[in-house]
Parts: sequence; C-alpha cells; structure tokens
Amino acid sequence: MKRFSACVLLLIIGVLLGLGTYKPEKLNSHSVPSNLTDPFLKIDVYYTPTEQVLSMDLETYIKGVVASEMPVSADVEALKAQAVAARTVAVRKMRALGGTSSRPDADVTSDYRTDQAYNPESVIKERWGAIAFWLNWPKIEQAVNETKGLILTHNGVPCDVVYHSTCGGETEAAADVWGREVPYLKSVPCGFCTGSPHYKGSSVEVPLSSLAGAFANLGLTVPVTFTGQDVVRASQISPTGRVKQVVMGGQAVRGLEFRTALGLKSTLMSWKVSGDSLVFQVRGYGHGAGMCQYGACGMAKEGKLYTEILAHYYPGTKVVYIFEE
Ligand SMILES: [Zn+2]
Repeated sequence: MKRFSACVLLLIIGVLLGLGTYKPEKLNSHSVPSNLTDPFLKIDVYYTPTEQVLSMDLETYIKGVVASEMPVSADVEALKAQAVAARTVAVRKMRALGGTSSRPDADVTSDYRTDQAYNPESVIKERWGAIAFWLNWPKIEQAVNETKGLILTHNGVPCDVVYHSTCGGETEAAADVWGREVPYLKSVPCGFCTGSPHYKGSSVEVPLSSLAGAFANLGLTVPVTFTGQDVVRASQISPTGRVKQVVMGGQAVRGLEFRTALGLKSTLMSWKVSGDSLVFQVRGYGHGAGMCQYGACGMAKEGKLYTEILAHYYPGTKVVYIFEE
C-alpha cells in the first residue's frame, strides 16, 4: 500500500462538508459524531465470489470485514481494535479520500490476500448459522458503532495498517517481512495468542517432486539434481526466528515468497528431509507484522481496551476520527 497524505485531503473534504474538526474528549467514550455519513464515505467493494462491485456505506463494509476477519468468539474490545484497523486500511484505499484503490472499478477487493476479507451480512448469517448469528452479530454492530469514524494515524497520516492471524509469541517487524522500515510496525512481544489453533503449529509434508511446479511461478528452476536438505537452506533468520531468506540451488528466495509458493501458513518454520519429502514444522499464521488477531482476542479477554490493544501492536500511533486532522 502506498503512502499518501490523506489527512490533508480529509481535512479539506471535512471543511467543505461542514463537518468541522472532531476532538473526542475520551477515545474510549461511546459517543460518536452523528453526522459522519456522506457520499464521500461510500466505498466500492469488488466482491470476489460474485465478481460484482458492491457500493455501500463505509461502516457497513467495516461490519462485514470484522465479521469475516475475526473469530466469532472474540470479545468486543478485540472486535473494536479490528474495526479501527480495518477502517484505516479502507481509508487508504478509498478514491474519494485520495487513496490508492486496488482495482480501477473498486476501492477494495474482498480477497484477504489483496486487501482484507469481507462478506455481506447475508453471507455471514449463512456461514455462522442462525443461532450463532443471532448471538454474535450484535457484538459486531456494537464494535463498529462504538468506533464509528475512528482510524489509526502516525504523524497525522493514516497508518499503513497490516495485521495477521497468529504471531506465535512475537510479532515481526515490517523490515524483516518486506524489507521496508515502518516506525509503528516493529516487533513486539505478544504472549496473548496461546489460545489460537495455530499457536502450537503443525507438520506439513511437501513431496520433493512438487517443488519444481511450486517455484515455477517465482521464475525459479529447481535443480534436476535436487536432493532436498542439501539444497534448501535458510540463509537469513529474523530476530524472532522467522525465515527471512531461503537459498535453493544457489538462488535466493524471500521467506514470504517461499512460504507462499508452498502454501505454508507462516515463515516461523523449520524443515528436514524425510524420504522423498520435505517435512516442515510451521507455527503461527500469517506474515506476523502488525496486530496479532488472536493476540488481540487474548488481550481483550484480560480486560484490555481496544485503544490499549492498538497501542501495543502499533506503537506510537494515535486513534483519531477520520476528519480530526
Ligand atoms: Zn500473537
């Protein structure tokens, strides 16, 4: 996601619309501006399953993201942290606010690999079932309504927010994932995601014969004489123990690409050759940068507020209304 000085534009739009400057007395207050609805807060979402562009109110979109991204068992404060994170991602993409859209015909897509997961309320209801929906949808509405219009900023600019499912103990610095320094995407200790099904990790067997196909997409050729362990080695490990770079047959591959090519859940991994296969031990789920979603759930269960959760995973950032600065 490219950076842009959205706040300047947001200010202009806000002034033009007579929305003024919002200064919430308390960020944890449940009071929100009542007039934060206008044509500029409509978002166009390319819904991948039906290949249609759906136009909707930003807050409606955020409900669909929070319900699609977080475990249904999440407490409200974790859902609120997710709502603010999701809204910040959206604001940086919305063309009406000067953002960089993911497609020419839509601001965002519903594909989590490109942007963030989204499903309409009707699909969520079908997925969860009527009873779970009846029990849990009010939490989604509460979380989004109580954070209405709030985003994360750093030095007055909407943050380049990323998040992931399970860090496994420590989050990863953006510099160690993508090679770019982001002041608020440093590695922080987590220790709150032990309840995640991905925390302990699992074993994944990849036949050596399938490697050539997996890496062809990266433009890499697996050597004919490939013998597994002798050829594939982790050449760079990050301070949190994630594989930053793999050398395979003399060719360097970024850890993230290696993981993606093999369909592994995380770069927190090790491997060995077993027969005709590489056997990976993989812990955590996702790139590891920014908010750990299961960690956010763990913090909320310990009574932390969404502002504390966001401050932990995005140090040095502020929670502000879209039109505040
Ligand atoms: Zn974590």
